[in-house]
Amino acid sequence: MKRLQLYDTTLRDGSQAEDVSFTLDDKLRITERLDDFGIHYVEGGWPGSNPRDEEYFRAVKRSRPKHAKIAAFGSTRRAGVKAHEDRNLQALVHAETPVITIVGKTWDLHVRDDLRISLKANLEVIHDSIHYLRKHADEVIFDAEHFFDGFAATPDYALECVRAASDAGATLLCLCDTRGGSLPTQVAAGVDAARAAVPTPLGVHCHNDCELAVANSIAAVEHGCVHVQGTINGVGERCGNANLVSIIPVLQLKRGIHCVSAAQLERLAEVSRFVYELANLEPNKRQAFVGQSAFAHKGGLHVAAVQKNPETYEHIDPALVGNAQRVLVSDLSGRSNLLYKAAEYGVDLESNKPAVQALLQELKDLEARGFAFEGAEASFELLMQKVVHGDRVRHFKLIGFRVIDEKRKEDEPPIAEATIMLEAPDGQIEHTAAQGNGPVNALDGALRKALVKFYPEIQEVRLHDYKVRVLGGGEGTGAVVRVLIESGDEHERWGTVGVSPNVIEASWQALVDSMDYKLYKDRRGARRRRTDAATRG
Ligand SMILES: [Zn+2]
Repeated sequence: MKRLQLYDTTLRDGSQAEDVSFTLDDKLRITERLDDFGIHYVEGGWPGSNPRDEEYFRAVKRSRPKHAKIAAFGSTRRAGVKAHEDRNLQALVHAETPVITIVGKTWDLHVRDDLRISLKANLEVIHDSIHYLRKHADEVIFDAEHFFDGFAATPDYALECVRAASDAGATLLCLCDTRGGSLPTQVAAGVDAARAAVPTPLGVHCHNDCELAVANSIAAVEHGCVHVQGTINGVGERCGNANLVSIIPVLQLKRGIHCVSAAQLERLAEVSRFVYELANLEPNKRQAFVGQSAFAHKGGLHVAAVQKNPETYEHIDPALVGNAQRVLVSDLSGRSNLLYKAAEYGVDLESNKPAVQALLQELKDLEARGFAFEGAEASFELLMQKVVHGDRVRHFKLIGFRVIDEKRKEDEPPIAEATIMLEAPDGQIEHTAAQGNGPVNALDGALRKALVKFYPEIQEVRLHDYKVRVLGGGEGTGAVVRVLIESGDEHERWGTVGVSPNVIEASWQALVDSMDYKLYKDRRGARRRRTDAATRG
């Protein structure tokens, strides 16, 4: 199996994405995760650019990654300044990393119009910078900025630039598609030419402006690059960087190129979610390999087929990348979807024909009223429990709630307040109130405040998403609405649904399902773990 170097730049190029910013603590946690995951190089930041990045390099040295090498990033010296006097290069050396990556111009258009120096002077800039840094770091990677555009415009000059870097002692030359406008055939031709021109190992760094960053990276590796740069989930400047979360499984599972161990690959989905979480971005449901929908089947025919043999509609075994097959329940579902779901939740429906009938009937009735269980699987699991056991899972009884939304003056923000009274399983009555940013938020606050007395784990539940959809539409503001809530704790995310002509009632149903599901699954999990321990003796 061929081996490949993975170079992650989530913390540098990735943090240049719109809406993404990492704190120092985030950066250290991501570094640790990438190290565990088997990434070979972690580019931590640009020490010359801001104090937080300088602090990062001090802190990361103390935390000592197990395998990953930390790289500091910067650019070649300014024209007319000696390399050892250049402040940027000095900052790179002071970061004391084993690897330094510097970016330099290889497209004559940039040299003339941006740097405004002679083509020869730029070759000296590249050479001097690398020659100087080479004395201070084990490895110096040269990022050949705009290499593919430069190669398309003036191939000889682009190659002269990489030759200058190679002669100066760069340990790796990384060819960049910085504008993200190249096509796989152009990338392949550029890599071929660079290979013929220099003996130094080559890498590739692509951007996604034509949605081709992954394809271009794969083409570059097929043509001899031994090093791939990218970011987790493809976050990055403009349309993003090449997505390592796709590149890794493609190379490893489809091309037999070793990137990480099989056990590490199984944590791909988890690493992806972790970075979304810290970047405060909503995960992309439809993301290849790791998205929630990547192995989700909805059509009855598909479901019937994957149950016989998953290969019929799945290009890989989802477990290899830490994902799982899902079957969606909807009005398209037949018996096979229900049986699959039941098995997934450990409910025995196979031997309970009346329950299957009852569940199909209940599902039909609910859907006719506007319920939809795609994206509300937690509500569906509770429904299934109700049908099988004759009663729904219940952790408390509502005695009543009241929501007040008050606006006193036109230019003053409204105040929302909810009070709630409920009865706990031991008969205790709890009466609480909470203010909120709107009536549903206040209701959520009051419900949690009441429940947390009996169930402290409710504190772990976070509300990720709240969606309201008006159904039908004939009756304007009097129409039936469907509320979908997505909640989560540190292990799992789950969706719940509520339907009513009253948006607060619909929200209440979805909120109650969410809390009930959390309490139910924690107890179910504990039960399962106990059984496992008992079996192991
Ligand atoms: Zn870049």
